[in-house]
Amino acid sequence: MLKLKLYNTMSRQVEDFQPIHPPQVGFYACGPTVYDYTHIGHLRKYVMDDVLVRLLKVAGYQVKFVRNITDVGHLVSDGDEGEDKLEKGSRRYKLSAWDLAKKFENYFNHAMAEMNNLAPDVSCRATEHINQQLTMVKTLEKKGYTYVILGDGVYFDTSRLPDYGKLARLRLDKLKAGARITKLAGKKNLTDFALWKFEKPNQKRQMVWSSPWSARSFPGWHIECSAMSSHYLGEQFDIHTGGIDHIAVHHTNEIAQAEAAFGKKPFVKYWVHHNFLQIEGKKMSKSLHNFYTIDEIEMKGYQPMALRLLFLTTHYRSELDFYFENLAGVQKALKRLITDIQAWQKTTSLTLDEIARQSLGDEAKKMKEQFWQKMADDLNTPEAIAMMWRMAKSEELKPAEKLALLLDFDQVLGLRLFELTPEELELKSAVDANSLPAKVKGLLKKRRQAREEKNWQEADRLRDELRKLGYLVEDRPEGEKVKLVGTCLPVGRVGS
Ligand code: AMP
Ligand code: ZN
Repeated sequence: MLKLKLYNTMSRQVEDFQPIHPPQVGFYACGPTVYDYTHIGHLRKYVMDDVLVRLLKVAGYQVKFVRNITDVGHLVSDGDEGEDKLEKGSRRYKLSAWDLAKKFENYFNHAMAEMNNLAPDVSCRATEHINQQLTMVKTLEKKGYTYVILGDGVYFDTSRLPDYGKLARLRLDKLKAGARITKLAGKKNLTDFALWKFEKPNQKRQMVWSSPWSARSFPGWHIECSAMSSHYLGEQFDIHTGGIDHIAVHHTNEIAQAEAAFGKKPFVKYWVHHNFLQIEGKKMSKSLHNFYTIDEIEMKGYQPMALRLLFLTTHYRSELDFYFENLAGVQKALKRLITDIQAWQKTTSLTLDEIARQSLGDEAKKMKEQFWQKMADDLNTPEAIAMMWRMAKSEELKPAEKLALLLDFDQVLGLRLFELTPEELELKSAVDANSLPAKVKGLLKKRRQAREEKNWQEADRLRDELRKLGYLVEDRPEGEKVKLVGTCLPVGRVGS
């Protein structure tokens, strides 16, 4: 069995992976808050989850993969104040909170399929696990970990846990109220957090449930993940993933709730955190509105598997800056590889099954081992991908051996190497005039007018504006040509 190593945020070290009950592995991934479009920043995280699940399976583990859908209770501040993201999104998109959640859960699932991510064994909605969450809060109340802030909610008293904050290594004595931690009136400690919230008198929420504390109330954000993960995976399980933004608050509070309620430590054996996809030095995020959806990426002529490969070229614990130029480079390389694969397939009469089963020469065996060693070493995908390129170019391997290795590698890479065609990976650099967004068409028209009037300054200004939107205008003797460029500004959402 492949020996895996994983970086554990709890110990800040790469550790040998040893599940609690081998060969079973309980795996919980924090899922999306479904109030807006899934963007490619999220996709980086979910692709890396997928690669880890695939790797565990190749290594022979029986993985139970659970991912939640946050469809209630995640407040805009990430703290305990402010509006529920679902209620806010409901106004923005003029849909009921329930329909909004459905719409964006569907979009999330569509994006997962586009990225060739395996479906989880369990996809669980917070709104469908209200009882499990209530039970957990009642247990915490019985054990004396809670207090009520009148008119606000049930709170967890973090001073009751001597090791509170261990995941983030919080220095509680040094914490000050700030962007992520709010000092709410009535909170006993700065780090106390809401387990259950009450509707405010003037609020008229769409999503409310009756609880022992209030007839119109709803769960806090953190409780859903402790309640649902333990419901499906037990009171202690192996792997929990999330973005690095979840370490200090969300996962810290998940640990507090679960370890206090169940009286067992550790709640999770390996905490795996993914770094961000950035754009112009900032986290790509729904709140900053500096994001692209997968449909926008495809509309610009890119194939989702090129994006997947781009993600794999950077280690999951490093930041990744998104540039269209890089995506284009990766897509070109992938197209060459797919073209080669098709050519190599023509040199053999063996079926793919037969190719996969054939015996390998020493050099091929060595490369195969090196690839899996890299993957097993805390998912060193950049080096594993580099290994794949070396292998593909090697003059020592027979085409059938290359095919066998690529079939093998694609079990974990999930790049659809044997399904894609070079045509699908053709880069379309010039834009089809008919598919341009109305705003871009309008700016182009104005620019043409400015040029006719020889108002070069205005024409240049409009060219800059178009560039910011991701469109490069070139003036050619045969007329203007519009190309796509890397940019951080989204050009209206696709899929709405
Ligand atoms: P959310 O829907 O905002 O709750 O995010 C769902 C997951 O995606 C969380 O684990 C986030 O940490 C992660 N995430 C959000 N934005 C990014 C980004 N730009 N890069 C990588 N992961 C992200
Ligand atoms: Zn979560």
